[in-house]
Amino acid sequence: MIDDLRFDNQFTKSLPADSQVGTERRQVEQACYSRVKPAAVAAPRLIAHSAEMFELLGLESAEILRPGFVEVLAGNRLLAGMDPHAACYGGHQFGNWAGQLGDGRAIALGEVVDVNGRHQMLQLKGAGPTPYSRTADGLAVLRSSVREFLCSEAMHHLGVPTTRALSLVTTGEEVVRDMLYDGNPRPELGAIVCRVAPSFIRFGNFEIFASRGDRETLQCLADFVIATEFPHIEDPSPRRYASLLREVAERTADMVVEWLRVGFVHGVMNTDNMSILGLTIDYGPYGWLDDYDPNWTPNTTDAQHRRYRYGHQANIAQWNLVQLANALYPLVEEVEPLQDAIQHYAERFQTKWSQMMASKLGFSSLDDSRDQSLADEALSVMQVVETDMTKFWRQLGRVDCSASLDPVERTKPLLESIYERESATHPQISAFVDFTQRWAARHRELGANDVERQMSMDAVNPKYVLRNYMAQLAIERAEEGDGSMVEELLDLVRHPYDEQPERNQFSLLRPDWARTKVGCSQLSCSS
Ligand code: AMP
Ligand code: MG
Repeated sequence: MIDDLRFDNQFTKSLPADSQVGTERRQVEQACYSRVKPAAVAAPRLIAHSAEMFELLGLESAEILRPGFVEVLAGNRLLAGMDPHAACYGGHQFGNWAGQLGDGRAIALGEVVDVNGRHQMLQLKGAGPTPYSRTADGLAVLRSSVREFLCSEAMHHLGVPTTRALSLVTTGEEVVRDMLYDGNPRPELGAIVCRVAPSFIRFGNFEIFASRGDRETLQCLADFVIATEFPHIEDPSPRRYASLLREVAERTADMVVEWLRVGFVHGVMNTDNMSILGLTIDYGPYGWLDDYDPNWTPNTTDAQHRRYRYGHQANIAQWNLVQLANALYPLVEEVEPLQDAIQHYAERFQTKWSQMMASKLGFSSLDDSRDQSLADEALSVMQVVETDMTKFWRQLGRVDCSASLDPVERTKPLLESIYERESATHPQISAFVDFTQRWAARHRELGANDVERQMSMDAVNPKYVLRNYMAQLAIERAEEGDGSMVEELLDLVRHPYDEQPERNQFSLLRPDWARTKVGCSQLSCSS
């Protein structure tokens, strides 16, 4: 029963609160959060929910049908034990210090103790203004809420660390947005996603106090994060904050490697969008690579410099960690251990990246320089001609390694990943054939069993990802009042590595109409 949810609000209990309550916009000093209630909405309607998250929180699925439940998910009804609040944080946006940002359109309700005994913060995104809303309204539209809801669940099932989504509701109210910032505002349907994570603390939560010289609150926050999330850091000396950085660096490296594995581009890797737990957080203008192009970013706001392009994400994560190191410096007062933690990020990333690439190629490691070359070659062959990244890797698993096979015949499954294959030139096809020949020869040399190799490759090379155009189709239907495609895609992304023959259409290359369509290839921050 929803009313039986047990809350244990460590964050609000342990950390200093803003003395002022309510939504008045303000600079909040010496406090980690402000208490604020979600705004009531007119006519909440449930569009979708995550059964897995229900289970994790110990809720029966039938609960969703009870009148009154959707009221909780929309912020109209608070449960006993909830302590609604918005967090105070700052951040570097596109490389520049932006001062106080904070939860401008997210209100955390409280921490539920899940079935595994872990704390899970419930947070409503789009539930109305907070002290941190600045000039904006605190609301979210259906389009961006569908994208966040589906993508966070998709990422989880792909095995990528992420915040989760419990539910998606529409509010029955209109929200005006200028989607492309081109002077064409229009009313859209308002929506609220209930997000869930053990903690929503970001790099920016630390940066705000460091920027203000507020060492006391900074330390309070750092000690809280160590005690709740990294309790194995037992060092009583100030060096413990460098150990904290090292842990965050490690998790961040692992997260970015996973993004690269599945072709995910976050789109807005500002330090306020970097989770201290190494979770993918704040799904805005994110996107998935269809054709493999390391320079691609979906974010129109970043089109000029492409700071947050696919192939630059590992560097940006490091840049962000350096900002976190700077923020923690007043607590450590020693540069070296902080530098070591950053160095650890670089090494961890390299090791993990190498393991990840090996697994995608069906090798156990890339220790042999020939295998390292094959990894480089795979990435360059995808750029010889427009090639679908997801399809390429999945199909590579289907290539027959036996010696007797004709080279072109062998390469056929892989050629299915090429866009407009009919117009591919002979040298382009040859590049694929050469790569495949070398890769197959190496597997023969290693004595791999084809069936086992394919199984291991299929476990890391997904068949289905949430392609941009798919989310867009679901959004267009949902905007017409039909949420069935959201449900269908949620079901699809639950098993991204499995063959789902009845849903094969979603594994095909991006359709041509989606190549340049807004929502499919370009997105703005407006949400
Ligand atoms: P984002 O780019 O989504 O990470 O947002 C950056 C900052 O702007 C965060 O502090 C958000 O809370 C805030 N923000 C974004 N959209 C809104 C909105 N509609 N209302 C209030 N604050 C917002
Ligand atoms: Mg954000």
